[in-house]
Amino acid sequence: MSEVPSNEFQRRSGEINDLLCILNLLNWDARTQMPPGGGSVRSQQLATLSALAREKLLDPAYQVAAQTVSGDDIQIRAARQALDAISAMRRVPDRLTRELALLRSEAQDIWAAAKANNDFAAFAPALTRMVALNRQLAEALGYEGHPYDALQNLYEPGLTVATLLPLLTRLRTHHVPLLRAIQAQPQPRTDFLTRHYPADRQRAVSLAAAERFGYDMGRGRLDESAHPFEISLNCADVRITTRIQEAYLPGALFGTLHETGHALYEQGVSPALSRTVLTSDLTGLYAVGGASYGTHESQSRLWENRIGRSAAYWALHFRELQAAFPDQLSDVDAATFHRAVNRVQPSLIRVEADELTYDLHIMLRVDLEMRLMTGELEVQGLPAAWNARIREDLGLEVPDDAHGVLQDIHWSAGLFGSFPTYTIGNVMASQFYAAANRAVPELSAQLERGEYGPLREWLTDNIYQHGRTFAPHELLERTTGGGLDPQPYLEYLSGKYTELYGLRADVIKRVFL
Ligand code: ZN
Repeated sequence: MSEVPSNEFQRRSGEINDLLCILNLLNWDARTQMPPGGGSVRSQQLATLSALAREKLLDPAYQVAAQTVSGDDIQIRAARQALDAISAMRRVPDRLTRELALLRSEAQDIWAAAKANNDFAAFAPALTRMVALNRQLAEALGYEGHPYDALQNLYEPGLTVATLLPLLTRLRTHHVPLLRAIQAQPQPRTDFLTRHYPADRQRAVSLAAAERFGYDMGRGRLDESAHPFEISLNCADVRITTRIQEAYLPGALFGTLHETGHALYEQGVSPALSRTVLTSDLTGLYAVGGASYGTHESQSRLWENRIGRSAAYWALHFRELQAAFPDQLSDVDAATFHRAVNRVQPSLIRVEADELTYDLHIMLRVDLEMRLMTGELEVQGLPAAWNARIREDLGLEVPDDAHGVLQDIHWSAGLFGSFPTYTIGNVMASQFYAAANRAVPELSAQLERGEYGPLREWLTDNIYQHGRTFAPHELLERTTGGGLDPQPYLEYLSGKYTELYGLRADVIKRVFL
């Protein structure tokens, strides 16, 4: 073997990261700026760039360069991650990669039409094929316990069904009775949330809230898109979007805080990791600084829910919101607003769900996905299985498949195994938050004064700066001293709703925790 220059691995990793960042930029443009006519050529551009990134990753010279890396722990970790990604990609036959890519773009159009026409039968053949290809993908990637492990590890490295299922069961046995107890109580008024809120003022208020948490506009920007998202080109260029509805105030407000949480993570990644493997998801061919989907989601939910929906936050900031919308909020006070934006109300649509019922939507999807992957459930049986579970957990009748099994884009995009990361994110958010409070005893007093810097700095030091250096379970271990643990999350939810809904604290403690 010929001598490989020591910086060869970094040079090649930098080129791959450049391509992934350009892919992100084209995707950002497609979702925020591109005229509708640009779609088909853009798909080809994305496919070409993806293929180039994949070629560079699978270039035998890159593997050799990675194998010869020596140096500090960070460089060794980067090389190991590259080698793992190369090995995973090599296990997947080219034929399967091509078929999946083709089906993903076809199936999304078929799904969109089927959803618009409320016609599950029109989507079923494409979905059946997608399930079959994902089962092949799981077999090709390999797994020890359950085929679902291979797929969920694409999004949450190291997460297994053996860990996930008991955790979800624990959450479900907590959430469902708590939901029933909440439903038996009088509901807060929310009428004022659907008054007319002019878009320009919503935008200004959302942006001010993002900056209050520390979103740096010198390295960021806020645009509008149909589905809000955050995307990073590197830590110096981290963009978010929001969706403004003039007849619904919480959408843009909390949507922006959610994406701000994602953005704080990316802006907090150490600049030293730019153009490295440690800001690249090499298996997913995506430039991202966060350790995993679940870890990322823990930060969006921490800032949106733990901080942005807290009583302390609204006690401090409601007056400014009222100043922006004096007519709309003239008959509302901070406590009333806080109760309204924390209202629990079972709904058919996941993306409209409140904090408590959201997890139930996730559990339903995870359960169905796992059964599809083992063949225990056929695609034809999906709508009935879906509707039965919605009835059982949420007490709702699904009127049609557009409001049921057809609502999410995920299955048409081939994203089997990604749903658990939303709930894992909720669980991790509470673990990280509890760890921050242990480490910084004055944290809650600071938050009550509107000082968000100390929390952000603790998260940056312990989580953000590391990028993808550590796997999610390593980050948890380093910051909390243990693995995934739902207890802090359950205590948070029970405590919060006991207070908001006047539930009997002694009963809650005995029954739910
Ligand atoms: Zn998110």
